[in-house]
Amino acid sequence: MHESSITSSIVDILKNIIKEKEINKILKVHFLLSPYGGIDSDSIKFYYEFLTKDDLVLKDAKLIFKKDKIKIACKSCGESFESLKLISRCIKCKGSSLSVVLPDDIKIKSIEI
Ligand SMILES: [Zn+2]
Repeated sequence: MHESSITSSIVDILKNIIKEKEINKILKVHFLLSPYGGIDSDSIKFYYEFLTKDDLVLKDAKLIFKKDKIKIACKSCGESFESLKLISRCIKCKGSSLSVVLPDDIKIKSIEI
């Protein structure tokens, strides 16, 4: 389980943002998760609650998780598109020569204050 270290770096990032922007309450944090990253959002929530329990700015924030998209480009026709699933054929020319970029395992998309 590496969710505890991931969550503690998320909390560090949020604390830096709070300091920089002088935020006094974070209401929601939106995350994007890779569909193939294998990160368990419930574990992130669990560690977040534990790590922020004494932090008035962070502790009541609602964590919202969405799946990030995979970026795919077709080497035959040049079409590029995004998908939640890995696919084996281009949506335009049906070619099978694709370059695939998986998103980061987790990223902070936005914060509501
Ligand atoms: Zn194509």
